[in-house]
Amino acid sequence: MRLLLFGAPGVGKGTQAKLLSAKLNIPHISTGDILRQAVKDQTDLGKKADEIMSRGDLVPDEVMIGIIKERLSKTDCSNGFILDGFPRTINQAVQLDKLLADMLIDDIKLINIFADEEEIVKRLNNRRACKVCGHIFALAEIENSNSCPKCNSKDSFYLRDDDKEEVIRKRLNVFRQNTEPVLKHYEKQGKVISINGLGTVEDVNRELMSLLF
Ligand SMILES: [Zn+2]
Repeated sequence: MRLLLFGAPGVGKGTQAKLLSAKLNIPHISTGDILRQAVKDQTDLGKKADEIMSRGDLVPDEVMIGIIKERLSKTDCSNGFILDGFPRTINQAVQLDKLLADMLIDDIKLINIFADEEEIVKRLNNRRACKVCGHIFALAEIENSNSCPKCNSKDSFYLRDDDKEEVIRKRLNVFRQNTEPVLKHYEKQGKVISINGLGTVEDVNRELMSLLF
């Protein structure tokens, strides 16, 4: 099964990706991870991306597509893959379509995990990180405690900048503007499966599995 995973920050995309990958026995390919790996391995494209990023610029789509192509060509992708983090713009979608056509892949599905924006803001704003071990907790998990359940540090909880309301709203706006055209693009091709991401992890996963089969 070949899947593109799509969803706003805070909808639990990463968690679902890991579960799907384990259940379907196909690799979870996060474009952030493979970019870091290519840089670390100093592949030709990795070197190029490294150079561009160290100037403070964004890695251009052509370079990213090359890195994705290398990853999707590996044998562990022969039965399928979950691509996470790409495409995020309409230009990336068009380039990815071209790549997949070149690779004779025509059976992709795009999983769109959506959620009410107010709920996303609430959910992220109700998280606290431990500044010692980095673990993230829901407020409800640490309600009556001032020590970290993971590392036992005292008074170590804080609200990460990424989880602050104004930062979340900005990221959601950017996401909405860039991704709506991507969604329409794949809807026109009849390839979108949409699912509400705000249930429990298990419920969302169960529904997702039933939509896929
Ligand atoms: Zn801790």
